[in-house]
Amino acid sequence: MSITPLMPVYPRCGVRPVRGDHCHLIDEDGTRYLDFASGIAVNLLGHSHPGLIGAIQKQAEQLMHVSNLYGSPQGEKLAQQLVDNSFADAVFFTNSGAEAVETAIKCARAYHQNAGDEGDANRFELITFANAFHGRTMATISASNQTKMHHGFSPLLEGFKYAEFDDLESAKALMGPNTAGFLVEPIQGEGGIRPASVEFMKGLRDLADEHDLMLVLDEVQCGVARTGKFYAHEHYGINPDILASAKGLGGGFPLGACLATEKAARGMTFGTHGSTYGGNPLAMAAGSAVMDAVANEEFLAEVTEKGERIRSRLEQFIGNYPDLFELVRGKGLMLGIKMKIESRPFFVHLRDHHQLLTVAAGDQTIRVIPPLVIGDAEIDEFFDKLSAGAASFKVPEPA
Ligand SMILES: *Cc1c(COP(=O)(O)O)cnc(C)c1O
Repeated sequence: MSITPLMPVYPRCGVRPVRGDHCHLIDEDGTRYLDFASGIAVNLLGHSHPGLIGAIQKQAEQLMHVSNLYGSPQGEKLAQQLVDNSFADAVFFTNSGAEAVETAIKCARAYHQNAGDEGDANRFELITFANAFHGRTMATISASNQTKMHHGFSPLLEGFKYAEFDDLESAKALMGPNTAGFLVEPIQGEGGIRPASVEFMKGLRDLADEHDLMLVLDEVQCGVARTGKFYAHEHYGINPDILASAKGLGGGFPLGACLATEKAARGMTFGTHGSTYGGNPLAMAAGSAVMDAVANEEFLAEVTEKGERIRSRLEQFIGNYPDLFELVRGKGLMLGIKMKIESRPFFVHLRDHHQLLTVAAGDQTIRVIPPLVIGDAEIDEFFDKLSAGAASFKVPEPA
């Protein structure tokens, strides 16, 4: 047998973390890495946050899991926290980002199709955007135009049309009698930390209002305080109808959520949707502990301030290496360095030779997505490692 017991779908690297210590990861052999990847924008509070650990320990002792057939004081608490801190009137809890997007897609379709006598079964299409990433389930790969995720999994699910990102005219051109809404990341994550423009986001909101369409935001990566607002759409002065959230929401505990306005949730009635684990007491305790830590003005202001500080230092820094780096973009602590070459070799170099963990993304970009609790010491260490990494990096020869 040559297959590994872990199904080999990931090209895993040699870093094998066994312990986390605030903003560092410690490998099996004791090597310490500075973690500016955060489990891909998950570990908002770092790796050993007493509040989060305590909440999970306490809840695990009291009650880990019960069925959604029973009342849920823990779920009501977290749902209320999310409603109080967002545009939403109601929340459905999931275990992952892809499931949160799945729920959002179902919610948008049901808005049109389960609308009583007005119900229109032809309104099933969502207009999505080039280079989006929405997850790895059949619906969420179908929602992305990235063919590398489709290969071997046909047929795709019907009902998605791909427009150009940040191009309102291209979205408009795809609208028709089957359109149910738009599905978009306000800041593309995997696509290379690409923020949409204000005109684009406002334009989608206006189109949705004019044509009674659902504006569905995928904030799985950019949401939950990452950009210095609780949700990133707040930077744009618009609200969605439906929003998918996950990654940072559980701070490392698997947790996602689909948030909706009362109007948008009109089709999600008894029996239309469900999940065995979704919203279980343990996940709810983790989510509430994260909300207690991040959903307040002081914390968000600190994220903004740290983000601006890193960004201006990055902008200075890249000026020293005009052959390597092109620009810095993003918001808050969701930053991307666009390179002039493929970003993967540099990301590997930082990891293997300077013990600095970042994440490569599309469009030749390196993602800088640290825990939101970093302090001056971690920021200085980041720039020390990044500078040393850039100085020692040899651009690979073309093959
Ligand atoms: C990571 C991600 C997802 C998928 O989340 P999973 O928890 O991996 O299912 C969906 N959308 C965006 C924008 C993401 O970054």
